[in-house]
Amino acid sequence: MEQDEYDKEPPTPMERTRLPPNGIPRSALFSELVATERDDANWRDGRTWSLTYHLSDEHADLLTDVYRHFFSANGLSPAAFPSLRKFEAEVLAMLATLMRGGPRAAGSMTSGGTESILLAVKAHRDSWRSKQPRRRAHSVPEMVVPTSAHPAFAKAATYLDVRPVFVGVDETFRADLNAATEAISDVTICLVGSAPCYPYGVVDPIADLGSLALEAEIGLHVDACLGGMLLPFIERLGYSVPPFDLSVPGVSSVSVDLHKYGYAAKGASAVLYCERALHEHQFFAFGTWPGGLYGSPTMLGTRPGGIIASAWASLMSIGDSGYLDLARATMETTELIKAGILAIPGMSILGHPTMSVFAFAPDGQNVFSIARRLQADGWRIDTQRQPDSIHLIVTPHHRKAVHRFLEDLRGAAVAERCSPLPEKANEAALLYGVTTVMPAAADEDVEAFIRSHLSSTYSIDGRNAKGRNDGRTHGDAR
Ligand SMILES: *Cc1c(COP(=O)(O)O)cnc(C)c1O
Repeated sequence: MEQDEYDKEPPTPMERTRLPPNGIPRSALFSELVATERDDANWRDGRTWSLTYHLSDEHADLLTDVYRHFFSANGLSPAAFPSLRKFEAEVLAMLATLMRGGPRAAGSMTSGGTESILLAVKAHRDSWRSKQPRRRAHSVPEMVVPTSAHPAFAKAATYLDVRPVFVGVDETFRADLNAATEAISDVTICLVGSAPCYPYGVVDPIADLGSLALEAEIGLHVDACLGGMLLPFIERLGYSVPPFDLSVPGVSSVSVDLHKYGYAAKGASAVLYCERALHEHQFFAFGTWPGGLYGSPTMLGTRPGGIIASAWASLMSIGDSGYLDLARATMETTELIKAGILAIPGMSILGHPTMSVFAFAPDGQNVFSIARRLQADGWRIDTQRQPDSIHLIVTPHHRKAVHRFLEDLRGAAVAERCSPLPEKANEAALLYGVTTVMPAAADEDVEAFIRSHLSSTYSIDGRNAKGRNDGRTHGDAR
């Protein structure tokens, strides 16, 4: 195995720049799809630890059939498609019950966790402004965000002109309460907590953050994108789950992804509020368009009916006992993996993760070298910094992969101990995969560096289309 395996250039260079002169027949089209997919991450065999949440082929077939049935339906018009309105309302009502939202709860289905978070920040910003419209119209609002919170909050802050005030985590990787207390100012619109956060899988001290929010008369958004469809079930199984939902005093909104542990088709999440008044600040209304009165609850205009209907179908077909069984399988698989990791000399797990998301690190060994070896064995490995570690999200689908993974991890650790791979300079953590290298110069603007990678990764001229994992070719572009 060689380092090159981990750094290999993405294949499938782009070839077409024009429409085919005549349409390609279905069979040829599918051959090309399958051929193009060849180098994708192998999620089918459980060799990815993020990005996909596959339950079973049977479940995927059901969702696809429902999607097909509502393929043309558009959630933009509840009047034209009352069916979709009913599905969405029922999905939200079921989620509100899971999140113990009470009779005044409200919310929307969205296209993903990021949209749920963007909308929650907008609702809090506009609600805050509406309370003292004159005084607050021109001040820059602030939001208190733990460094462990998902980047979607930073994205929301950028898009919505809210200044994020970052606070660190304590020694157990939970949001630092004292720092949060001190970060609140007279222009703070809300606090943020995660249940759990992505990097460490720990639930922030939501009850304490809620007290802070009440005291300061501001909102508290709980990001339960990962945990919303799992924590309520593992709690019923007897696992210890800190309070995190809408029943906690001070919590004003919660995001829950349906396309993660809800096992819905991708493009489905929800944002829930403690009351309708806050939800209303999320809406967009435009009254002077020649095309008529326009109103839209979320960021999208056209809303794919297939996504709404199939998310509903996922909840309905799995049901309460199904999610409970899945939660049990998820936790059993997680415990198997954790025990196997801890049995390898020098390995430890960061903090005390609440559910099936966690990070681990080898003592005194280079995490990135171990990740590179695993990558060469056919695994897609997410690494992270602060501290250097490997990140796993476990689903029941991983049951069949557990033993191979632990064997390969053990092998990688032993091999690395015997003959360490040469360390790479400027190695960056690979999460969603923009790049694996850091800027060469310490004083270089990291965000400009990332943007230049995005620009080449997403270029359509074909020549630069291979930039994903390789920083070296972009020296001149910067
Ligand atoms: C996945 C995730 C998000 C963002 O969700 P997307 O669906 O990727 O937009 C936000 N917060 C947490 C904790 C997540 O795991």
